[in-house]
Formats: sequence, structure tokens, C-alpha cells
Amino acid sequence: MTLADSTARFEALFERVTPLIGVETPLDQVGFALKFAVRQLRPPAVGVQHITCSDETERECVETLQRCLVHDVSPRLKFGNHSALRTANLAGRYEWGSLPVAENHYAITQPSGAYKLLVVKINAHVGVTRGNGGRTYGRLDRYGRESIVCSGLHAFLAGSQVPFADELREVFQAEGCDRLALLDRVDPRHRSVALALISARLQARSAVLEAQDHRPETPTIYWIVAGVTLNKPDRDSEIVVGSYVVDRRGEATTDLYRGLGDDPSHYEFSEAHHRLEIRDDQLPTVREARDHRRIVDQEWKRRGELRLSRDTRVQKVLRNAREHSNDAGARKAIIATVIPLLADLSPVSAALLFFGQGIGGIYHAYRAHRLCRDVERSDDARQMLEDLEERLGTLPPEETKKILEVLLAAYG
Ligand SMILES: [Zn+2]
Ligand SMILES: [Zn+2]
Repeated sequence: MTLADSTARFEALFERVTPLIGVETPLDQVGFALKFAVRQLRPPAVGVQHITCSDETERECVETLQRCLVHDVSPRLKFGNHSALRTANLAGRYEWGSLPVAENHYAITQPSGAYKLLVVKINAHVGVTRGNGGRTYGRLDRYGRESIVCSGLHAFLAGSQVPFADELREVFQAEGCDRLALLDRVDPRHRSVALALISARLQARSAVLEAQDHRPETPTIYWIVAGVTLNKPDRDSEIVVGSYVVDRRGEATTDLYRGLGDDPSHYEFSEAHHRLEIRDDQLPTVREARDHRRIVDQEWKRRGELRLSRDTRVQKVLRNAREHSNDAGARKAIIATVIPLLADLSPVSAALLFFGQGIGGIYHAYRAHRLCRDVERSDDARQMLEDLEERLGTLPPEETKKILEVLLAAYG
């Protein structure tokens, strides 16, 4: 299928939201736009996941989405109760593992074979105050004094070393791009807005990575929408950053993105009638979302130095493996013996080989990219291998089969 064909297929979703990208819009209008888009697509079932900052200012955003979208499209949890699966943490970070949980909860489609739409809304936020000189972004009058909003994002920007800031740092530096340096190029007046836009965009990307990697319980279309709430003294508004469609209804998969790019230095800000607008050169086009496992796999194949070292101990263990490849218990024992050897001999090659072949947690994606750029980071690689080893006990038989096949192929 061509890009135009697959885009046309999801026109119902893109059509409603595209006019809102980069344009400040009242919160309820964004919620209604999502609802009309869902109604136009007419999916047999719908679920909603909402990720926001835990800041009290974001309650308005949560309640507006509840009223405008969740209440009307999601299934009844109990009498009068239609609810989204929600994450609220500092700065509105995507929590690894949450999308598969939401997918599982809403996997209710009847008859079997019918699909569901999972709307994943991700909001970052920024405060707005209005003074004589016009608007100021990044602050809000709260409880009678000026307060930074989003405090989580700003603490990260100021170099906080608390775990949540470390998590943000990993995402902001994904694929070797120093987005903090790019933010420095943004006009200081709009830097807080750019920070929030980029954050929402990057958290959405993490959710997409997981949607691409997760094997859904029932056929699923994920619609992942990123936005920034503008917390104001009066009613809040929102700037939609963009949306991803990840189609996992069958073997033929489609992953599309339409919205602002991830380089804040390309954003152009304008303001008219108390309405903020952001444009960049990425906006007009729909493009295919990348497959990060494949990128790592290609990099591994391209680079000659990323080979597993030959070792008689590994070869000896694997020699017996072929006979036992149908015994799940024996497979686990073999893998449990080989992984520590690989962690010792060629950790980087092994970690990247596994990741590229779809083995191990997708939450290692940023670490894997970092390893491709800097093969000296063997601690990162060892951590990935250790994690795989720890999870070995809980892996389904088809996973251990795959690991063994990859090892046998690598050791010919
Ligand atoms: Zn729970
Ligand atoms: Zn916040």
C-alpha cells in the first residue's frame, strides 16, 4: 500500500485534528474534535488512555477530556462511569508498559476479529500569565504568588538529578540529538512553550515505540495524540502537537505521523488575538513512523565491528542446543548459560543483535540507539542482557525459541 492509500484510510482521524495542529484551541474543542473523529471512523470498540502531568492545574484538562470524549466513547465501567486509563506523573512522562495494560483492558471487541480503537492522549503543559507587555509563558499566578508551570519540565531544564529528570533526559537526548541545545536557540519568550511541545512530542514517540512492539490481544488501531495544555487564569486551551496512527489489526501494519517535528529550533511562533500559533516545515506532510528495532538491526548489520566473538564455551553449549530446541525448559537453561558468557565476551554486539531482532524490552530503545553511536558503553549493553536474563523465567515459549534461533544463526 502506498503512503497516500494508507493516509486516506485514516482520513477520518487526521482530518479533524490537522487544523488544530500548532493552533491554540479551547480545551473542549480539542476533546470534541477527537470525539467526532472517533465517530466518523466508527470503530467497533474504543478505549482511552490519558497521560498528564500530576500538577493540579492539569485537572481541567483531564476533566474536559472526560466530559468531551471519554464519557461518550469509552465502554461503561459501572453505572454512569466511563473512564480512561490514566497516568499522572511529573511532566507527564509516558510510563513504559502502560499502553499494553490499556490495550488489555479495552480488548473487549465482539465478535472476535472486530477491531478496537485505542486513543492515547498525551499532554504536556505550560502556564500563561497576562500582563501589560502581553503574555508570559512558563508561569502562573497560583495561591497568590507566581509559580513555574510546568515545574517538572523546568526542574529538568535546570539540571535536576532526581530520577524523573533522568528519565526526561534520556528521552530528550534520544538518538544523539541534543534537544536542550536546540531549545537554547528558541526565543526565550517562547522557550517554555517549545519545551512543553517537544516533551509531548517525545513522550508520544515512546508510546508509539511500545504500540509498534506490543502484540495486542485484539486487533487494534492506536491513535496517539500529543498536545500542550496552556494553563491560564481563565479557561485553559491546548495546542495539538500532532498525532500518530499505528495500525495493528493484522499482518499489514501502518505507522503514520502528522504534526510538528521534533526540532524546536524550527518552530515559528506567532500570536494574534490572544491566540498562539506554531508552524514548522514538517507540518504539511504525513510521514511514516520509523521502526526503531529495524534501525538498530540495520546498523548492527552495517557495522563490521559489531560481531559476536567466537568462543569455544558458547559454541559448545549451542552445539547441544539444536537437539533440545523443542524442549522449552532446556531452551531456557541453554539461554541462561549463554547470556552471561556473551555479557562477558561481546556485550554490545549481543545486546544490539537481540534488540534488533525484536528480543528484550522495547523500553531499551533509547539505550540501544545510544549504543549504536557509542560502542564503548558496555555497561548499558550488560544492563540490557541482564534484564533479558532476569525476564527469562517469564518469557513465553515462542520468545525463547526465537532467542535460540537468533543465537544459532549468529554462531552458524
Ligand atoms: Zn492497577
Ligand atoms: Zn507539570
